[in-house]
Amino acid sequence: MIRVLSLASEAAGLVKTGGLADVVGALPRAIAGHGVDMAVMIPAYPQVLSKLCPPPAKGKRKAPASAPVVHEWANLFGGPARLLKATLDGTTEGPTLLALDAPHLFARDGGPYTDGSGKDWADNWRRFAALSRAGADVAGGVVEGMGFDLLHAHDWQAGLAPAYLKFAPPGGHRVPAVMTIHNMAFQGHYDAGIFSHLGLPMEAWAVNGVEYHGGVGFLKAGLEAAHCITTVSPTYALEIRTSQFGMGLEGLIQSRGNEVRGIVNGIDAEEWNPATDPAIAARFSARALGKRIANKRALEREFMLEKDDGPLFIVVSRLTWQKGMDVLTEVLDHLVGLGGRLALLGSGDAALVGELHKGAARHPGRVSLRIGYDEALSHRMQAGGDAILIPSRFEPCGLTQLYGLAYGCVPVVARTGGLADTVVDANLAAIHAAAATGVQFAGVDYQNLALAITRTVSLYHQADVWAQIRRAGMRSDFSWNQSAATYAALYRSYVTDGSPTPA
Ligand code: ADP
Repeated sequence: MIRVLSLASEAAGLVKTGGLADVVGALPRAIAGHGVDMAVMIPAYPQVLSKLCPPPAKGKRKAPASAPVVHEWANLFGGPARLLKATLDGTTEGPTLLALDAPHLFARDGGPYTDGSGKDWADNWRRFAALSRAGADVAGGVVEGMGFDLLHAHDWQAGLAPAYLKFAPPGGHRVPAVMTIHNMAFQGHYDAGIFSHLGLPMEAWAVNGVEYHGGVGFLKAGLEAAHCITTVSPTYALEIRTSQFGMGLEGLIQSRGNEVRGIVNGIDAEEWNPATDPAIAARFSARALGKRIANKRALEREFMLEKDDGPLFIVVSRLTWQKGMDVLTEVLDHLVGLGGRLALLGSGDAALVGELHKGAARHPGRVSLRIGYDEALSHRMQAGGDAILIPSRFEPCGLTQLYGLAYGCVPVVARTGGLADTVVDANLAAIHAAAATGVQFAGVDYQNLALAITRTVSLYHQADVWAQIRRAGMRSDFSWNQSAATYAALYRSYVTDGSPTPA
């Protein structure tokens, strides 16, 4: 059994702002059957602490048992910290969860990365350097009775951990590290002035260390120091070699050659299964698709949309430029003109929200918005929508198209990253072979998205073809099985007989 510490800034079920949390939360259970014992370590933000150490119920005097402390740091970047041990799902046999409780860094209202007004915390460098330092310590074996063979670091927030293991390993013990890029757009780039506070030796201030364009690059540091790099789809692994997608790190990615692998994300089949989902009005499966209509009717009511038999499009997304939401605002009139309706759930840029509100006001009963974050509603939308629009300019993997496939909500996607890898375009050959699962279009602009919507509406009106596309999607394999096996094999190649292979 290989013991892996998965280090990240969020995990589904505890704290989530995007797909990273889904992956970090789902992988431990998925990989357990492949000979890997994976523990997850995240910061103990207030929302995490309240789940691990809930306040006593009303009327009960006795406080419920709280998570045990398994390690303490007297001074972790300016204050004391402790490590709490629990399980990811709260059950006794669930995967291990380690929560870094450092009140001076994480005990504050707001989001994991931003304050209540959406502004990045000014000390994010310190917060995630601390997470990385503590993660490197734990991976290196500072917790009594808890050893690890490998560290798996996710995104820039954990990016310094491989560098700590390389340049300042705890007790001189360097375990191998895998670094995964979930989104190259977020790199954690800070002024050179922070270097002296990181507790790294001078030799780390180098091109093959943490230095990046005269400052400190967290993701860059992880990519340099890790034994191997992965990203979340084969197409994105190729795209980040180019200047269009590499965001300045394309040279580094190219220099790592074959050590950069693309492993597509799976979905948590317990969370996302239309046959058992408690959040939806009517459960259904590929064999009992007829029942699905009750979810469409429920969604129309919930969004106060006119009831009709035309296509109901949905969007569940961060409202950002990356997600092509500006182009979406431009096609609303076209979509409605074709007899379509749109239900949108999202949060993000204020300017985009404003444009979307204008579109909804132009089309009452046809375009309806919910601005905010609502996990249960996202399930009801996948269950009731006919097609999900995902016009991303880049998309490392993307999960909402996978949920769409699982729920018979046909994905209409830009041909990029994981979207290109997971959706089979309904061209004539694919329809003929009963292999089509969605609609792809290349180039995110008004013309291309409008054309994709026109194609989708036309497919929708060919009832047999549409049902076939829906079923093919629902039957495709988007489980973690294959990817978990690939991660397990990758870890194994760096850990032989329980001892790490030299870098
Ligand atoms: P990203 O991580 O870039 O935001 P992904 O498609 O990989 O994109 O993952 C997004 C995740 O967040 C999915 O689980 C999606 O359902 C969820 N999500 C995004 N926006 C919302 C929202 N407003 N309410 C509920 N869930 C959302």
